[in-house]
Amino acid sequence: GSVLSGRLALVTGGASGIGRAVCQALATEGASIVVTDLNIEGAQDTTDSLSKHANNKHMNYSLDVASGEEIQKVLECIINEYKKPPCILVNSAGITKDEFLIKMDEKKFDKVIEVNLKGTFLVTQAVAKLMVSQRVTNGSIINLASISGKIGNLGQVNYAASKAGVEGLTRTCARELARFGVRCNAILPGFIKTPMTDAVPEKVLEQVKKQIPLGRFGQPSDIADVVTFLASERSSYVTGASIEVAGGLAM
Ligand code: NAD
Repeated sequence: GSVLSGRLALVTGGASGIGRAVCQALATEGASIVVTDLNIEGAQDTTDSLSKHANNKHMNYSLDVASGEEIQKVLECIINEYKKPPCILVNSAGITKDEFLIKMDEKKFDKVIEVNLKGTFLVTQAVAKLMVSQRVTNGSIINLASISGKIGNLGQVNYAASKAGVEGLTRTCARELARFGVRCNAILPGFIKTPMTDAVPEKVLEQVKKQIPLGRFGQPSDIADVVTFLASERSSYVTGASIEVAGGLAM
């Protein structure tokens, strides 16, 4: 496909799971991809896996989304390299540090909020500034929230709070950026098979699967397909939305 030809996408958390599948799907549709992650080897592997259309250029950078300084440096490199800011941003970097409420320590709470919520804020703010100042008119910001943030999940008081926060952030950005031609939407994945969910015990997997109307776990590509839609002009009247991609798990 070439729905995204000529577009430049910045993806955080692009070394693994959903982020990697997003990079692959956007590249398949003709976009140039800037793959970023804490894990630079994984980011390089993602970059090597991307399909190349004519005039495409894929790059990767080490980026901790919790560091405003690193974000500025990466954006400077992007402007030098591509002579334009990204018009697609996908915030996929995220972590879990599960503990029941009673046992949750402040450090684990803060760390998850720092990466998932503040990281999404910092990257979104920095990229949005460029989108506005460089007059990008088909901007699309896509944030990975979670079904956990909607219905809660045992042991995820920190994670669920961070993801519900991402939804509020998304709706506010959608309102503020609409007049600049920039849309902002959230995706709420259900249970997707990635390294993040690898540690879940077999017993729990069986229980969860029974609750999924479509009868299967999600694949990273299930999420990447919806990201591709939200990145493209096919969704040009969609902003501030939270789209559940969960096989019906949380209706
Ligand atoms: P994953 O663990 O496979 O990938 C996450 C990536 O983020 C990793 O490559 C990791 O190195 C990177 N990362 C972690 N901290 C970072 C930081 N500070 N800066 C930059 N990169 C960092 O996880 P995934 O399953 O692909 O999840 C992607 C997103 O989707 C996350 O935001 C996650 O919360 C969300 N999500 C996943 C599921 C699921 O079932 N897998 C469900 C709902 C939401």
